[in-house]
Amino acid sequence: VKLSQLGEFGLINLLSKEIGKSSSKVAVGIGDDAAAIKSLPAGRHGKNNKLLLITTDTLIENVHFKLKNTSFFHLGYKALAINISDIAAMGGNPTFALVTIGANKNLSVSKIEELYRGIKSLARKYKIDIVGGDTVASPKELIISITLLGEVEKDNLLKRSGAEVGDAILVTGDFGKPASEKFRIPHLPAGRQGSEFRIRLKEAQIVAKFRLATAMIDSSDGLVRSVLEICKASQVGARIWLDSVPVAKDATLDQALYGGEEYELVFTVPRSKAIALKTLIEKQSKTRVSIIGEMVSKKNAIKLVDVHGQVCDLKSGGYEHFK
Ligand code: ADP
Ligand code: MG
Repeated sequence: VKLSQLGEFGLINLLSKEIGKSSSKVAVGIGDDAAAIKSLPAGRHGKNNKLLLITTDTLIENVHFKLKNTSFFHLGYKALAINISDIAAMGGNPTFALVTIGANKNLSVSKIEELYRGIKSLARKYKIDIVGGDTVASPKELIISITLLGEVEKDNLLKRSGAEVGDAILVTGDFGKPASEKFRIPHLPAGRQGSEFRIRLKEAQIVAKFRLATAMIDSSDGLVRSVLEICKASQVGARIWLDSVPVAKDATLDQALYGGEEYELVFTVPRSKAIALKTLIEKQSKTRVSIIGEMVSKKNAIKLVDVHGQVCDLKSGGYEHFK
């Protein structure tokens, strides 16, 4: 069987079976935005309410970006930003990072320095210490891989599982801009998007702090995909109200639903608390929050519903590697 037949998600499924059950120290293992571990030392008063978070993400030349025209500053910025987004989606705070670079020997040193300036600008902003990494030769393409640690108060932890029938689905910001830019301005270097990358750490921490949400994910693989992941992890179904989806300027509804790469937050909240939480986040962060649907029973699967109440078909959504 080839990887292209299995796809990224099929492969991760297979691997997680191979890896098997994890120890009791693992609060959240494979299958969420970051892993959560009960291993931080006890605090001053002998008890510890925090979990250690760990996540890793990789950018590869010609898969995630093209070297030609790419700003190395923004590439570095993006490599760290996508990891911060995963820590944020758990309700946590980023702390320490390891940075691995695989580069061709002919690449100019100044480019790598520029890449690090991008990483460091963001690390400084969020008070993340870069504490190590690895540097290796790559026969051809450039590889940037970052592992990011974080921490979260146990009661603030938000997983993909936890959503319940009757919960409302809320999202920050809008969707479809990266997909529409790729379509409209194909020469736009992927690395440039880094500068416009909205990191929803503050918003995520507000969601976590109020402890009203039941599940959360970041929308890296697209809005529909994110709702699907919450449904899978929570054993529920969902209805997405198409006229409530916040579509970015110049983007189509399809791009908003399936485009991905916008790293917004998608989270679920008991229906009776949804408007209150939306208002709180908007007040405290100035970021728009939209209620785009509801969780329903698992047997109803995921459905898209238009203004007339008509149910539309779901395209298999989001980006998947190897496919
Ligand atoms: P995200 O898009 O939030 O970074 P991914 O879709 O990349 O999440 O990964 C989904 C889950 O699968 C995560 O928990 C991740 O740690 C896990 N995972 C991905 N690749 C592997 C692998 N090769 N081995 C073990 N776990 C993996
Ligand atoms: Mg994620």
